[in-house]
Amino acid sequence: MQSINPGETDDLSVTFWGTRGTRMVTGDGFTRYGRKTICAEVRCGRRVIVLDAGSGLVPLGSAMMGNGIRAFDLLLTHAHYDHVEGIPFFEPFYDPGFSIGFWSGKLKGIDRTRDIVDGLMKEPYFPIRREKFRAGIRYHDLEDGASIDLGDGIMVYTMRLHHPGGATGYRIEYGGKRFAFITDTAHAPGQRDAALVSFLKDADAFAYDCSYVDEEFPRFASFGHSTWEEAERLRKEAGARHVFGIHHMPFRDDAALDRIAARMERDMANCTVTKDGMQIRL
Ligand SMILES: [Zn+2]
Ligand SMILES: [Zn+2]
Repeated sequence: MQSINPGETDDLSVTFWGTRGTRMVTGDGFTRYGRKTICAEVRCGRRVIVLDAGSGLVPLGSAMMGNGIRAFDLLLTHAHYDHVEGIPFFEPFYDPGFSIGFWSGKLKGIDRTRDIVDGLMKEPYFPIRREKFRAGIRYHDLEDGASIDLGDGIMVYTMRLHHPGGATGYRIEYGGKRFAFITDTAHAPGQRDAALVSFLKDADAFAYDCSYVDEEFPRFASFGHSTWEEAERLRKEAGARHVFGIHHMPFRDDAALDRIAARMERDMANCTVTKDGMQIRL
């Protein structure tokens, strides 16, 4: 892929454009941590990698229209609404000036990335079909455990997560830095997932499915999500530095996330509650 984006540094940075899981939220209780569903933008020097396409993808698209970004890769974890609902409304897809690599792993009933888009964009659900996209889009279908050499010194590794219908976790390595994106996934209480520990080994940071806390987990164990405390256990066992908790549930308003943040600061100093718009530089 051509590197035609402005700006050039060796940094790996991450911007969280949407951090909500399950669905968007509205109302007075949801003003400080954000309302949009999952989407993160990773910058590796002047290359851009977008992780997931929840409603956070929409403002990212608007930002790209203005900031000169014209080439990037979009990696989907899976196709649940909170991870794809931004796709039909993403301006760069309709602009011939964009060059986009679009990647996904296998999902229940779907082997091809383009089929995810076709499923979202058809009558009677949406009036515009994928054929109306004007960007140069190359669709890629990932085998389980595949790795991707994106060029410019960027490697992406994948692993299959534990989620109904399937999901793919990603680890991006660039300039000696490692950032992993692990959502949505479930854990088995009392057991560490050895494959995930090894996937996260020595990561500088990882975003993790922190939908629940341990004490409420038994009620939701079959939903395919995990907890703040499991994130910290994984962090310690993998020797990773920082955890960025994402996939905040709709019942978690600002006050509830404040309480979690206070616990994190007290007990798990390396775990942070993410907000829409938060930026980190590794
Ligand atoms: Zn989700
Ligand atoms: Zn999901």
